[in-house]
Order: sequence, then structure tokens, then C-alpha cells
Amino acid sequence: MKSQDIRSKFLSFFEAKKHTIVPSAPMVLKDDPTLMFVNSGMAPFKEYFLGNGQPKNNRIADTQKCLRVSGKHNDLEEVGYDTYHHTLFEMLGNWSFGDYFKKEAIAWAWELLTEVYGIDKDILYVTVFEGDEEDGIPMDTEAYDIWKQYIAEDRILKGNKKDNFWEMGDQGPCGPCSEIHVDIRSADEKAKISGKDLVNKDHPQVVEIWNLVFMQYNRKANGSLESLPNKHIDTGMGFERLCMVLQGVQSNYDTDVFTPIIREIETITNKDYGKDDKVDVAIRVISDHVRAVAFSIADGQLPSNTGAGYVIRRILRRAIRYSFTFLDQKEPFIYRLVEVLSKKMGTAFPELKSQKQLVENVIKEEEASFLRTLDQGLVLLNRIVEETKNDIVSGEKAFELYDTYGFPIDLTALILSEKGLKLDEKGFNEELQKQKNRSRAASEMSTDDWVVLVDDIEQEFIGYDALEAQVKITRYRKVTSKKDGDMYQLVFNLTPFYPEGGGQVGDKGYLEDVHGDVVYLVDTKKENNVIIHFAKNLPSHLDESFKAVVDAKQRHRTESNHTATHLLHQALREVLGEHVEQKGSAVHSKYLRFDFSHFSKLSVEELRDVENFVNSRIDGKLPLIEKRNIPKEEAIAEGAMSLFGEKYGDTVRSIRFGQSIELCGGTHVKNTADIWHFKIVSEGAVAAGIRRIEAITNDAVKEFYHENNRAFYEMKDLLNNAKEPVKALQNLQEENANLKKQIEQLLKDKAKNLKGELKSELEEINGIQFLAKKIDLDASGIKDVSFDLGSQHDNLFLLFGTENDGKALLSCYISKELVASKGLNAGQIVRDLGKYIQGGGGGQPFFATAGGKNPAGIDEALNKAKDYIS
Ligand code: ATP
Ligand code: MG
Repeated sequence: MKSQDIRSKFLSFFEAKKHTIVPSAPMVLKDDPTLMFVNSGMAPFKEYFLGNGQPKNNRIADTQKCLRVSGKHNDLEEVGYDTYHHTLFEMLGNWSFGDYFKKEAIAWAWELLTEVYGIDKDILYVTVFEGDEEDGIPMDTEAYDIWKQYIAEDRILKGNKKDNFWEMGDQGPCGPCSEIHVDIRSADEKAKISGKDLVNKDHPQVVEIWNLVFMQYNRKANGSLESLPNKHIDTGMGFERLCMVLQGVQSNYDTDVFTPIIREIETITNKDYGKDDKVDVAIRVISDHVRAVAFSIADGQLPSNTGAGYVIRRILRRAIRYSFTFLDQKEPFIYRLVEVLSKKMGTAFPELKSQKQLVENVIKEEEASFLRTLDQGLVLLNRIVEETKNDIVSGEKAFELYDTYGFPIDLTALILSEKGLKLDEKGFNEELQKQKNRSRAASEMSTDDWVVLVDDIEQEFIGYDALEAQVKITRYRKVTSKKDGDMYQLVFNLTPFYPEGGGQVGDKGYLEDVHGDVVYLVDTKKENNVIIHFAKNLPSHLDESFKAVVDAKQRHRTESNHTATHLLHQALREVLGEHVEQKGSAVHSKYLRFDFSHFSKLSVEELRDVENFVNSRIDGKLPLIEKRNIPKEEAIAEGAMSLFGEKYGDTVRSIRFGQSIELCGGTHVKNTADIWHFKIVSEGAVAAGIRRIEAITNDAVKEFYHENNRAFYEMKDLLNNAKEPVKALQNLQEENANLKKQIEQLLKDKAKNLKGELKSELEEINGIQFLAKKIDLDASGIKDVSFDLGSQHDNLFLLFGTENDGKALLSCYISKELVASKGLNAGQIVRDLGKYIQGGGGGQPFFATAGGKNPAGIDEALNKAKDYIS
């Protein structure tokens, strides 16, 4: 069965069981502070499990892009070495939100695997939770009894908390689970040892394919469990592992999900898969990582230096390292695999097709830049090797190479071992641990349980229409972190505060109670669909009602910037072309930032055209036309632009100003005239094919012009109030250039005169041209003069003394011929004479200098010079 069919069979099976099929959510999560990437199928539905919202259908199924490279689930180091863990993989899942429970979940899983896919029952094992004393929960006999109806009891294994109790995080919904494992070993192997003994033992052919989680508890902050009123089903099946089983192969990499990519790697690199272990690991690493990186970029998450972008960069760098070391690839090539990948997966994931060119460009540029880093690292490493006295390279040095220059430690170790040197791994790990401790200490955080005041999960957002409201606090909790200290998170029954999202910052403002007490709200964010207000203090009369007031001035400035962002987007597509796509935006009260795909720097004319376009829309006084809760299809049909990597519901909000229409949840001015004026302040590159514009509007533009104006008058003042300041400045510059030239000439003349003078002062002693003299030149001038005279005589002995800034300098030049014939040594001489100026120095036998702190001693030193040649 082809992988495409395996995927669609899963979805149609659950569709027939009355599940709504939804598309995969983007991989990068935007409103969950505990997770960077979606790492399991349930992550996008967390709000439903937490009771913060109600899905349209309480049965859902999908295939979800998951990434397990950071945090609680991190399989990165396994990938390439084993045959069944990936960074990015698809998780097929079916969900029940308070609807069906264990009976149906187990029955359907069994039906799908054994009847629809036709998997032989005799290769399956299942597990159930054995219970846990500490948590005080018994064995999951309910699941056991259901499984008994389908599978022989000796194939039902009991598992502990680690394998059979699933938790979303330290807190929140959790419950026992049943895993389904396959044993795809040969009959011979099975005869030697029973599959039963290999389940959950990391055997590559006895692997878990499906996990059925029965969410029936809630884990509280103090660690205790309480029963959930609504019980849920959350299942996840590894798509690539399922393909392995159904295609009768022994490795995920031998399925048609991977073979086209592997063939392409073989062709490009001229290496064969399946002949050499190291090459095989590298090929698996690359074929896996290119998927993770390509999907991420297509979802709008580009490689970068921080956060999720940094994780992506590290994955790609791991692939480059393996191809550099084991496939001898010194030029970018991973980007060339995107073609095959988008052909293979583009139907199920259309974003791969439409974003292909960008994905290729970004990967290529990243590859090129990391290969340069590797080159530089090799040079540095060679230097370290040269400086190494014994045969051990210190952990500190290796860590510096790793931390400052991004040079991977495994490559360092490999190169050192090839040179017969050792790496102090212990020292390296200590340095690494120190760094980790530093960053952990900075990010440590503790979160208390919610204190529920009003049991009301409905929360209304009224911030599109109002900046003030009477509100009640429905729940709150305390969060303590090193960075912010104590912070209180407050949830209201309704709120005018806009939570950070869609690039727009969260509102600030205050709460005021009837006694006139005020608590400032410093930020607003959305977490798993709940709007949370942040306060440094807890209000004192929690159960009363409050006036919640948004900082209107800041909101208005932010709105100006948000509307301007839409107009800028439109302007760029108009001026540069339809290939321009939004790749990120940040809308603050002080400025806006807009990242977009485009392949060259904007010219001055283009920037002017863009600015003019936006300003003409502002002058056009276009009114805001807002449509809320309209079907997504309707908005798209009207021409609304949507963004990749953004999660949209079935109904959306569209924002229109003239011909600019976007799907947007942010807040906007009522009329473009409110923006007053738009000004671009910078344009530059952020990545290959991605440009960034920063701009300002409204008050910020006024400040900008004020500031420029002030600077202008200050300048004019300095120019003695010249009538034409630009001309005055030009004159000044010209004059300055002329003066510079004159000074240069004067200095040259001076040196020339000095040389002539010194030459005439040479005295012949014992066949040696001798001069010892105090002169007024800097160190480099003295060197110049000495070598110049040296080129005219081959029997020269010079000793110059000079005083500068209260310090003394002696400088000795001896012709090489004299050094050889008379055994004279300038280095030795300045060291000797250094005592008169209370200092020391050295150099070569033919030229050396000494510095000292006693200029009064210069004359005495000069007097002694003759002694050396007489
Ligand atoms: P394993 O013990 O094999 O790492 P897991 O217990 O971490 O699996 P779950 O978190 O239960 O797995 O995820 C559900 C399913 O997703 C698994 O049964 C498996 O089929 C699949 N899966 C998990 N991690 C990966 C991965 N890194 N690559 C591919 N598939 C995976
Ligand atoms: Mg795992």
C-alpha cells in the first residue's frame, strides 16, 4: 500500500465514524508558552482538553506534523542512528472531547489495524497501565477487560508510569494509556526470544506504533491528581512506522516516504545507501532533517539565532555536519532535495509546493554560510593543534570553538583523533554544563494552580469596540520567575484588552476598584485560547467588580502601525510584484517591522514608491470595513490575503481599507487618515530572499521630523548660521581635505630633511658609520629613517633616543653585515641600555627597541653607544 493511501485510509475510516477531518495545524505554536513546536497530535487541541473552548465537533481526526527536537520530547540525537525515530513525523490521530471513551477507541483502533489495513494479529502486542502507588491510582482494568475481547491475554502487557501514563506537562490533563506495538522480526528471531520480552526495550523491529491515551485526570501544581469531569480520548499513531509495517520493510527509511529522497542523495553525492554504516547514518540524517527544515520554513519559521528559529538552524547544521564529514560534501546540496520532497508531499501539504522556491533559497544560503563557518573553524582548530604542547586539547578551547564560532564538538573530536590528539571531553562537558546552568537559572519559573473565583469558562473579548469595561476577575494565579519576579495572571469574564497576537503587542492599562485602588496591567497575552492579563500586584478586593481601562494612547499608536502594515503589504505587492509574501511582522506602539519574501535590495526609487503608495492611501481617508465571523471561504473569495503558518478557524475576521483586504485579528484605526503619515526608517536583509522594512507612523513620524529639524538647526548654528548650510558644509569638507594634503606633504618634507641631516652627521669609527642621537620622531618614523639609511650603507650602527609623553624610547639599527662580521646584536644592546631609561625591550639582532619610564636617562644611554664598536 502506498503511503498516500495509508494516510487517506486512516482519515476516511474515522470520517465514517463521524469524525470531522481537519488539516494539520502549523508546526510552530503561537499561544502556548510551554511548547515551542507541536510535538504530538493533541497539542493544537490543548484548549479543548483544558476546557477553554468547545470544538465544533467533539470527534476530530487528522494527520499532524510533529517535531520532537526540544523540551520534553527530544529525539534529535537518535535520528539517523535508529530506523524509526524522526525529527519531523506525521502523527495520525483521532480525538474524542468528552464523547466516546475507552471502549470505542480500542475497538476502532483494532478494527482499523487488523481489518482495514489487514495487519496480522499475531504480530501485535498491547500494553495497559499497571497502576501507581505514589499517585494512588489502580491498574487500568477497564482497558484490560476491553482488550481481552480482541487479543489473547498473553499479548496484553502491563506497563509502568513511564510508558503507560501520559501527561501533557507538569500540570494539566493526563491519564493512563494503551500502546500498540508490532513485532516485525523473522520467524527465526521470534523463536529465539519472544516479542513480549522486547516490547519497550528499544528493539528496532519491536516498536510502538500507536498510543491511545485515556485522559481522565488533572495534575495539579502540588503534584496531586483529581478526576476530570469530562473524559477525553487522544490517540497518536506514527505514520512512517505504520508505512513500514504495511509495506513489509524493516526501517522507516525503506518506505516510499523516504526512498525518493534517499535515491536523490545517492545521485547527488555519488554514495550508496546500505554499504557503509557511517554513510548510511549520514544519509538518514539528511533525508530526515531536510523534511523538518523544509516544513518549518514553509510554515513561516525561518532559521535564526533565537528560539524556534535557532532550533531549526541547529537541525539543518546537524545535517550539514554529517554530509560534510561522511559524504564529503563541501558545497551546498541539501536545498536540491526540496524538489523531490515537494513532489512527494506537496499534495498532502500544499504549503511545500507554493513555498518551494523560498525554502530552497533559505536552505542554500544557510548551507553556504555554515560551510564557511566550518572552513574558518578548521583554520582555528589547526592553530589550536599547533599550540597544543602535549597531546590533549583543552575542553575550554574546544568549547570556545563550539560556543563562539559554532564549530561542532563531534567534528572537533573527529579531526583531533585523525591527528593523533585527544580532546579533553570532561573539560568540554563541564564548560557546557556551566553554560546550561547559567541559562537554566535565568529561565527558571514556577506556576501556581489557578484560583477559581467564578466558575465561568466563557470569556468575552470586546476590545474591537471598547477600551473600557466593568469586569470581574474569574480566576488568577501567581507565576514566579528569575526574570520578572512575582507576577499575577488575571482572567476576566470580559475584557477590552487586546492580547499579543498576529504580530501586534498586547495592551497595557489598569484596573480600578470602587475604592479607587489601582493595579497596573503590564501586558496581555493569549494562552491556549484564554486572555491573560499580567499584573505585578494582586488587587485587594478580588471578588468585587473593576473598571478595566486600556492605555488608549498606546493602543492608538499601535493601531496606526497595524493598519500601516496592511497598506505596506499591499504597496510592496504593487511596487515589487505578487511574489511578495508576508514572512513576519511586529506591530508595536513605537514602530512596525515587516518581513517579506523578495530577492534583492530595494532601490531608493522603490522605497520612495512604496512610501508614496502608503501615504496616498492615508491621504485617501479610507474607512475601515470590518467583517467579523464570516466563513473563511467567503473572505478568500473577496480577495482577502491569508498567511502561511497561521492557524485560522472556520470563521474569520476580514479587515479592509480600499483594496487592501486581509484576514486579521488585530486592532485598526477607523480611517487611514488617523495614521497621519508613514515613513520607512530602514530596509535590509534578514535571510536569503527575506527582506525587512522598519517604519513609523503618527506621533513617531512627528518626533522623527522634530529630531531631524533640531539636528539641522544645531548644525546650522555650528556653521555660523550660514545662509546655505549645505554649501557651507561642502566648503568645510573641501578645506579640510586640502589641509590634510598639506600636512602630509609637510611631514614628508620633514622626514626627508631629517634624513639628509642625519646622513651628514654620520661619523666613521673603526670602519663603521656611527650615529647616536636624540631625535624628535615617533617609533614608526624612527624605524623608517633607520631602514632608509640602512639601505644606503652596509656598515651602519645607529642608536636613536626619543622622548614622548614622558616616556623614553631607544631604537638601535645595525647593518646585517656588521651583525655577521662583528657579532653585534641590537636586541642585546637595547636590553643593556634599557637600564638607563628604567625599562627594557628587545627585537632582532639588526633592529630592536626598548621603552622606559625615565627620559632623563636617554643621554647617558646614547653616550654608552660608542662602547659597543670601539
Ligand atoms: P517511542 O517510545 O518509540 O519514542 P513515544 O512513546 O515517544 O514512542 P508517543 O509520544 O506515544 O510515542 O507518540 C505516539 C506515536 O507517535 C508513537 O506510537 C509512534 O508511532 C510515533 N512516534 C513517536 N515519536 C516518534 C518519532 N520521533 N518519530 C516517528 N514517530 C514517532
Ligand atoms: Mg519517544
